[in-house]
This record gives sequence, C-alpha cells and structure tokens, in this order.
Amino acid sequence: MGNRFVLLCLLTVTSVTHAAEHFDGRSWWDVVKILSDDKYEGRNTGSPGERGAQEYLVSQLKALGIKPAGANGYYQPVELRSRELVEANSTLVLLRDGREEPLTLGQQAFFSTRVALAPRIAAPLVFVGYGLKVPEQDDDDLAGLDLKGKIAVVFAGSPAPMAAALAAHYQSLAERWKALKAAGAVGVLSIPNPASMDIPWSRMALNRTQPSMTLVGAEFDETPGDLFAATFNPEYAETLFAGTGHTFAEIAALGKDRKPLPRFALPLSIRATTQLVTKEVHSNNVVAVIPGSDPVRKREYVVLTAHIDHLGIGEPINGDRINNGAMDNASGSAMLLEVARSLKHNHDKLKRSVLFVWVTGEEKGLLGSRYYATRPTVPTADMVADLNTDMFLPIVPLKILTVYGLAESDLGDRVTAVAARLGYRVQADPEPLRNLFIRSDQYNFIKQGVPSLAMKVGFDPGTPEEKLFKQWLTDRYHAPSDDANQPVDLTAAAGFEEVMRGLTVQVANASQRPAWKTDSFFRRFAKAAP
Ligand SMILES: [Zn+2]
Repeated sequence: MGNRFVLLCLLTVTSVTHAAEHFDGRSWWDVVKILSDDKYEGRNTGSPGERGAQEYLVSQLKALGIKPAGANGYYQPVELRSRELVEANSTLVLLRDGREEPLTLGQQAFFSTRVALAPRIAAPLVFVGYGLKVPEQDDDDLAGLDLKGKIAVVFAGSPAPMAAALAAHYQSLAERWKALKAAGAVGVLSIPNPASMDIPWSRMALNRTQPSMTLVGAEFDETPGDLFAATFNPEYAETLFAGTGHTFAEIAALGKDRKPLPRFALPLSIRATTQLVTKEVHSNNVVAVIPGSDPVRKREYVVLTAHIDHLGIGEPINGDRINNGAMDNASGSAMLLEVARSLKHNHDKLKRSVLFVWVTGEEKGLLGSRYYATRPTVPTADMVADLNTDMFLPIVPLKILTVYGLAESDLGDRVTAVAARLGYRVQADPEPLRNLFIRSDQYNFIKQGVPSLAMKVGFDPGTPEEKLFKQWLTDRYHAPSDDANQPVDLTAAAGFEEVMRGLTVQVANASQRPAWKTDSFFRRFAKAAP
C-alpha cells in the first residue's frame, strides 16, 4: 500500500490544487473494507475479531515505521467485565392499586445491564421530566420531589434554553446518576424521546440481550447504588401516566419542542427480578506516535482518536448477523491510519508529536477512551488536543462539516479556518437532542481537561441530505447493513481526511496550544492552565 500511495500522491499533487491534496478516498475505503470484513465478525470488544482488526492496524503501522506508544508495544491492555441478562429468569411487573400488570420484555420495556441490577427490587415510580440537575442554569428537575427509595422515570431530552453541550454532559450516565442518587433514588426507568430516537424500538429491542461491559476497578463504577435500570417503549408509555391527569402524548409533544415538563409521582410501582451472568473480558487500545521535531514541543501531543470496536455478532436482520460497522467505526479507524500514513510520508516537519489511539469498548459506553484518558501512556497535561472521529458519514458531497464542541475551545476557530481554506463551511451541532457531544470518545478527554472536538460530514437543515442521514440511521445504524456494500462518497471522504490532516498539522505547529474558551462550561476540567 505504501508504494501505491506514493504514486497517487505524485499524481494528485500535479493535478489537484484544491480540496483533497493528500487523499483520494479510495485507499481509505480499501482499509474500511478490510476492517469491516466478515472475517473480523463485527469487532466486538475483546473478541478474536477485534483482535484480528487490531493486528491488521499494527502490521500497517509497523510497515510504515510509525512507533508504538502503548504499554505493551502498540497495545495498552484494558481489563473489562461483561454482564449478560438471563432474560428467561428475569421479570418486570407494574403494580397498580394492588393489581399486577406483567410487562413483556422487548415489547413494552427491557432491562439495561449498564448498571449492576439488583436480583430483586420493588419501588414506587416518580416522573422527573428530563431528570436534569444543572446548577449553572438553576435548573433542578428533582426539586420538591420525594425520591427516597423510588425509581425515577426520565424522559430523554432537555429544555431549549440549555446549551447542547451542557445538556449532554448532565444527561451522561454518571452525572445523571450522581444527582438522582443524592436525591435518594434507587433506579432509573428511561423513556426515549420519540423525536430523537436514532433507531426504531424494534431494533433497540433486538439488541437488548447483548452483554454490556464495565472497566474493572471500583474507581470506574459510574453508577454506585443504582439497583435498577430499564428502558420503556414510548409506544406503550401512556400506561405509565394513566390516572395522573397527564398523558404521554402531552409529555412527548412538549419534549419534541424542548419545552419544560411537568414532574409528579406516578400511582404505580415496579417490581423486577433479574439474573446476571458476569465474565472477565480482555481487550486493548492500540497506540502509536509520530514524534515531533521541535526539541521542546515534541513533548506535547496532538491526540487523534477513533474507536476500533463495534457490536460483533447479533440477532439476524435479513439473514445477516454480522454487524460489520463499516461506517461505525471502521471509517474513523481507517481515516486515522490514512492520516498517519500521509503525515509519515510527507514530512510536514511537525513540531509537536502526533499520538494515534484506536480505542476499544466505545460501543459498551466509551470504555477504552475512558481507560486511556485516565491511564494515559503520555502525561495528561502534555495532551494539547483530542481530535476524535466516529462515523463521519461521507454519504453526501462534503459542503459543510458539523463540529461537536465548536464553541468550547479555539479548536473551533482553527477547524473553521482549515475548512474555509479547503472550501467547506462548519456548523455547530444542529441536533442537540441526540447528545452527540458526549456520545463518543472525545468526551473522556474533555473530562480530563483536554480541548477536544469531533466532526462529521454535515447537512443543511431542510435539505434532501437531511433525509438521507435520517434514513441511514433508521436503516443501517447499528445494523448488519452498515457494511462495505453501501453507497459512499469517496470525494467527501477525501475532503474530510484533508480537513483532519490540516487541523492536525495546524495544532502540531501553532505556537499556542489549544485553549478552552473563557465561557466554556468544560473549561473547569482543565488541569494544565493553557
Ligand atoms: Zn456505534
């Protein structure tokens, strides 16, 4: 691949003067095809398939002469524990006026094994609206409610005046649980917001028995004391609100427009019995470095991240059970390799070092990045930025980039300038309800104070492209059809790679390291005052 790349470079340098100077999209897609091949069985965290895909990456890095920067060569071991629900031995029942209303798991609701479910629990339900406690905005959905020993029923979303990044942070598993636990709650029943569901209930339910995973170590437990977690099908949610003077239709209509929600006790309890099977799982992050050339600044690192894991083998859809994860996230993993290859070949005399981290366990709750960000192989204070790529979706021509974290640090200004030079516009997250700012690996670096951003190929609201993206989520997101047999825009991919490369070079060579904006909420996590 190295030789072919050099040839392509010579050709493109003479024939193309704008947009994708270093990339053609094709060599990227070739790597995507390899990483998403059936032989890697969907790269489930800790599986032989994931290991195989990682070995492929490592072989390429070695061939390129890019140095290892893990704990064990290119690898950083990540120890995990999986939890699998034995659904046949688990039940969920609503209790109303002394009557039992058994729920069918998968139809009306399903358990979440993200928390250590208690084998038996019965508790009254309290509807807490969005369930958000945001001191910065004097917003406390839990105020005035008696949650002692109760299960909080949460409607996913946030009220409109709240900035997307702030709303996303307080909706994270850890932050939400902190507030609920302090109020005395013992569990959470979540109702998805029908206005922001990425995939239909039927497919959510299909994935429900996949084991979940946690990092080994009490310090990594984000939900201590949480005894119950389940998701309720919005189609059946009226039953929860019967006899309250409110309807779910009313709640959903308010939630769609990000309006404030009423909060009140429900005349119901829930009773659950569960059986969990736990197992040890061994996985790895893959870490490599291109050292900087400046005697002082080479000690600082521009970190590029992408998750290599995906969902593995699941329930069959149209006869296919391998979740190949071509876009999610062979695409980002391949892009990192392509950027590494390009930087290595083109000798841009990078002043700072560039660190490449292919993290594991993203699909299980951002676990590999959390492990790396808290147990880094280079000092945290020397990580000047994290540029993360997860499912950047080059499925339409690239005109506009969506940048998560655009207003939080001067990385936003830098990427705006890089993109403009290449003829692209940038926009902030147009879909704040989807919480994308905390739904990928950059979030763990942000929590360590590292200015971060993530980008995707974007769309202008109200255009046919918007429909295409929505359709992609409905049909292919977290489904076996996210494979190499789908339409892809190689020119868009090349343009995206060019922006990522340009931003990496800018951050590596600029005299100032990136800084949080003074008004950014996330500035509080900064350890090294920039
Ligand atoms: Zn995913």
